Amino acid sequence: MPDIAVLNGRIMPLSRAAVSVEDRGYTFGDGVYEVVRVYRGAPFLLREHLERFTRSAKAIGLPLTPAPARWERWVTQAIKASRYGEAKIYCSFTRGAAPREHTFPAVPKPTRLITVRPLLPSSVDPHQGVRVVTLPDLRWGRCDIKSLNLLPNVLAKQEAKRRGAFEAILVRPGVGVTEGASSNLFAVLRDGTVQTPPAGPAILTGVTREAVIAVARREGVTVIEAPLDPDAATGAAELFLTGTLTEIAPVTRWDDRVVGDCRPGPVTRRLMHSFQAWSDAQLPRASPGRSAAKRRRR
Ligand code: PLP
Repeated sequence: MPDIAVLNGRIMPLSRAAVSVEDRGYTFGDGVYEVVRVYRGAPFLLREHLERFTRSAKAIGLPLTPAPARWERWVTQAIKASRYGEAKIYCSFTRGAAPREHTFPAVPKPTRLITVRPLLPSSVDPHQGVRVVTLPDLRWGRCDIKSLNLLPNVLAKQEAKRRGAFEAILVRPGVGVTEGASSNLFAVLRDGTVQTPPAGPAILTGVTREAVIAVARREGVTVIEAPLDPDAATGAAELFLTGTLTEIAPVTRWDDRVVGDCRPGPVTRRLMHSFQAWSDAQLPRASPGRSAAKRRRR
């Protein structure tokens, strides 16, 4: 079964999908995107992703069209055509093709793209955790917009990879730790409180972040959204990352230091368990022997 694209409402094999070289997504990064995870053939937290997609599009002066309900139908159609059980969906909405001028075209013709690709096995070992490295946050002042302009994230992630780490933790002078290059960061303090940098223009408010905060609070865990000092973060009892593809990844090493006792800590493990149970409950029932738990190697 081929990877699938829905381009401007038309479904096709991904290999056949093509957009203009003058598309402003290509020339300026002038557009927004979402990545949605598919478990057992069902998109996970699709409404929440489409809400953020709508907010991001509005923030760049390009109101999302058609309405999210239509995007939802395209996504469902694409997953069905691909027949993938475990997959990742990419949605992008750009200001479309136009002669290259910085200012907006008088009548933009947006490009709407959805792709479905199979999910590769995660490189995160939930029993070992991952290593992160600190890098300066070189991004702009509206990181809450999920825009196509990802060059600082790309460069940070590549540098993390070069140093043998899973993720780059970004630090902005005067702000503190913001987030990972493609994930949000949580610290578990010595008293068991969970702290994560606040929603606002310095971070992308992750859909997974929001879900994990809600799950943690329902479990009776205190979660505070407050600026995180790099020293407080590196000295935390436990740390973990969240993201659509990352899910919850325990951080056990930071630069050359060990976090906690270099193993995923009890609060992180508890939240991984509760989050998985909660996400399983959001999805269609598994067929016998193919529970999400098994498929997600936890
Ligand atoms: N922060 C950044 C910079 C990201 O790129 C991402 C996801 O790609 C996240 C956080 C996590 O967001 P979500 O949980 O919605 O995937």
